[in-house]
Amino acid sequence: MIEKLSGKISTVLGPIDPSEAGLTLMHEHIFVDGSCFQSIPDEASNKILIQSEINFKTIKNLARHWNVISSHIKLNDFDIMQQELKNFVLSGGKTIVEATSIGIGRDPFAVAKMSRATGLNIIIGSSYYIPISYPKRINEMTEDDIYDEIVKDIEIGIHDTGIKAGLIGEVGIGGSISQMVNPHQKMPEEKVLKASARAQATTGAPMIIHPSPIKGSLMKVSQVVLDYGADPSKIVFAHMDVQTDIEILKNLLSQGFNIEYDSWGIEDTELIDSSDDSLQLPNDNIRLKYMRDLIEDGYINNLIITQDMFLGLQMKKNGGKGYGHIIDNLIPRMKNFGFTQTEINNILVLNPQRILTFK
Ligand SMILES: [Zn+2]
Repeated sequence: MIEKLSGKISTVLGPIDPSEAGLTLMHEHIFVDGSCFQSIPDEASNKILIQSEINFKTIKNLARHWNVISSHIKLNDFDIMQQELKNFVLSGGKTIVEATSIGIGRDPFAVAKMSRATGLNIIIGSSYYIPISYPKRINEMTEDDIYDEIVKDIEIGIHDTGIKAGLIGEVGIGGSISQMVNPHQKMPEEKVLKASARAQATTGAPMIIHPSPIKGSLMKVSQVVLDYGADPSKIVFAHMDVQTDIEILKNLLSQGFNIEYDSWGIEDTELIDSSDDSLQLPNDNIRLKYMRDLIEDGYINNLIITQDMFLGLQMKKNGGKGYGHIIDNLIPRMKNFGFTQTEINNILVLNPQRILTFK
């Protein structure tokens, strides 16, 4: 454990006392470059979509071409993002976790600047996103190299910026994770996952895992991180919206892990192109029902809600619900669902505070 970070939350502008964090979104993207997902169509009429803006004329194209339109998969304009975050600040938000990890455009200087511009506490991540986004150098890196890099990001700072990562993640487990279920095959993200788990154990940092939704992989990933000494109370499994098998979630929760519902406000099913019923994106109402079930089972302290803003369609300027959706729209709905103010405070303030604080 790192003496000077112990008991603190490590933001891009330095450590803060956990009580300063306030209402926190635990998994967002402020600057993100999803080039690794981009598909370039052959057809002339589809090719022009690459440079198109998202507006009333083009929004219909997002369902089938979500990864073609550059402005949909890249958030990179400082002034626009500052304006988007202003909505969160005005609604009462205090802290944001910038979960953009290595491979999808992590940008410590811009994030530090954004923290000053908005007054928000912002925590930036370390470690690597899914294999499709890996920089070439990772092929030559050993598990120890990756571990050293993550620990340096946390203790000394990212590259030579002096800006410290206050989180490990989001650590990406790719879609090819079926390999993980077969113990005889090595997966490319195995060394990243093991190095990340070890770095969690040594530094006491919080960690967010972006798991593959493929059946069997969640249990395997949770076993690997436990085997490598990580503390489950500091680990959040992201994107559990798609995991509609509640027994799998209860299994993770019973081991002390935290789970995250993070696609609030996305009410359609087009982003997950799967015929598997257990891997569909629910709407906000269904998410609330899942949460009530888990709360009845005693897991309120392990639930996180956040928005995972990473697409143009989620931005307010494009007609999306913006970073303020949870505060502006969801909290009133939670109250209608019977969530008490104490429960809401637990989920949006105390749980993030506890997880983000270094051991
Ligand atoms: Zn993710």
